[in-house]
Amino acid sequence: MWERYSRQILFEGIGEEGQRKLQTKHVLIVGAGALGTGNAEVLTRSGVGRITIVDRDYVERSNLQRQQLYTEHDAIDRTPKAVAAQKRLREINPNVEVNGKIVDVTVEEIEQLISDVDLVIDATDNFDIRFLINDSAQKYRIPWIYGGCVSSYGLSFTIIPGETPCLNCLLETIPLGGATCDTVGVISPTVQMVVAYQTVEAMKILVEDFESVRRKLVSFDLWNNEQSAIDVSRLKKEGCPSCGESPSYPYLSYENQTKTAVLCGRNTVQIRPPKKVDRDLHVLVTQLEKQGGTIEQNPFLVTYHYEDRRVVFFKDGRVLIHGMKDIVEAKKIYHQLLG
Ligand SMILES: [Zn+2]
Repeated sequence: MWERYSRQILFEGIGEEGQRKLQTKHVLIVGAGALGTGNAEVLTRSGVGRITIVDRDYVERSNLQRQQLYTEHDAIDRTPKAVAAQKRLREINPNVEVNGKIVDVTVEEIEQLISDVDLVIDATDNFDIRFLINDSAQKYRIPWIYGGCVSSYGLSFTIIPGETPCLNCLLETIPLGGATCDTVGVISPTVQMVVAYQTVEAMKILVEDFESVRRKLVSFDLWNNEQSAIDVSRLKKEGCPSCGESPSYPYLSYENQTKTAVLCGRNTVQIRPPKKVDRDLHVLVTQLEKQGGTIEQNPFLVTYHYEDRRVVFFKDGRVLIHGMKDIVEAKKIYHQLLG
């Protein structure tokens, strides 16, 4: 057992004691895209005790250039990322308890997901979920590691409740949104660099070497040979609603939840029923068959092609309507198909 980790144990920052600590820890990775798969593979190989990885999407061919746990088959089968990642990670290291969950993280899930973990890794592609992570991490006093990348540019920051500023404090410092992987692309070295910054911080936190944790916001542009580390400690705000003296955790209130969203840069609208449902996919297929179009199915989702649209139905009730950004039009299609 120790042989597997021998080189890591020889490393003085970890050692046998650090390795033992790693093996008792539980990490939540939110998102199983490029950053999520990279983080998950490193941490699984390092022997973290438990990893929970959550994602709402399925594998597409355009993911394969950088999402390192997936294969051509996963794209052909439209395997949910959480399922494909879990399978691959368990093959890599059966000593780690890996759980993949097909979840669209909302207020309802986040507190449940986060309450018993030692660390959260942000591997999402949007700020709605990051602010949910930020508020719940503050509430439960759990460190989390922010990471983002697009094009050849990336950044990372480690947030330790009670010590560092939180994401809400940094709102004006961090470039929010704008360019996304779907509009300007991304190259794999950018991903790997952010993954390196995130996983090394994860290791420090998991072996409880908090002194070594990086306190600066790092960013880089690999193509243009630029890098910087900014000291943001002074940006911690006393009155911050997320990490201040009397926090209200604004993002954990239901009013801030969108039920229908245009997915970031994807030309896709997601519709989520107001309450979670357990959709019977067989019943759904029967219903769709009456409306013509072609239907493809795997155990986790149903894909329905009609006219020039592609509509994907998940078991939890979510529906993705590809090829459009118009929410009103998307809702019409949704009601037309589901009655
Ligand atoms: Zn704050």
